[in-house]
Amino acid sequence: MAGKKVIITGVPGVGKTTVINEALKKLRESGIEYQSINFGSFMFEVAKSENIVKDRDQMRMLDRVVQKKLQQSAGQAIAKISGNVLIDTHASVKTSKGYLAGLPEWVLREIMPDIIVLVETDDDQILMRRLTDDTRARDKEGSRAIAEHQQFNRSIAAAYAMMTGCTIRIITNADFLLERSSTDLADVLR
Ligand code: AMP
Ligand code: MG
Repeated sequence: MAGKKVIITGVPGVGKTTVINEALKKLRESGIEYQSINFGSFMFEVAKSENIVKDRDQMRMLDRVVQKKLQQSAGQAIAKISGNVLIDTHASVKTSKGYLAGLPEWVLREIMPDIIVLVETDDDQILMRRLTDDTRARDKEGSRAIAEHQQFNRSIAAAYAMMTGCTIRIITNADFLLERSSTDLADVLR
């Protein structure tokens, strides 16, 4: 049987990577394997080799055309990976010129996901998580702006479902409830 392709999205700081790692641990215990892939890392490898950025958080500041080129090459590379694949990425990227679709038609056509997961939580929880994360250069924005971004991601996810026939699953990653969100994600991946 062909592998499953699942895309996980959520605004920066919502805790995607944490939920993914915890869910994959649970699945491994029941003998289910997924290859976990970070879309941004594929983009960053190319961007770094071309000396256009020093860290991954600079990529969303690049010219839109450059971001799209990096995005397209990442999409093509990831599409070649077979088996069960879990792709950690963004439904949309906030740039200074507005929201950039994370999964435009030319990326979706390559990857053709079975499921797109939106990881969400309360806007003020995301704000607090960003303020306390020193490992990344997260956008400094208020909870109203975070709310708008989460809302936009739901809207654009509907377009992705129309384009591919994939299902859209919303998972809440609330404070202190990682056990619940990771169990929810593991169930989706089973
Ligand atoms: P992350 O580590 O998931 O926050 O991703 C790091 C950076 O990679 C993001 O801030 C974006 O600049 C870029 N990125 C990740 N996924 C995509 C995507 N699907 N389309 C465009 N840029 C992306
Ligand atoms: Mg992450």
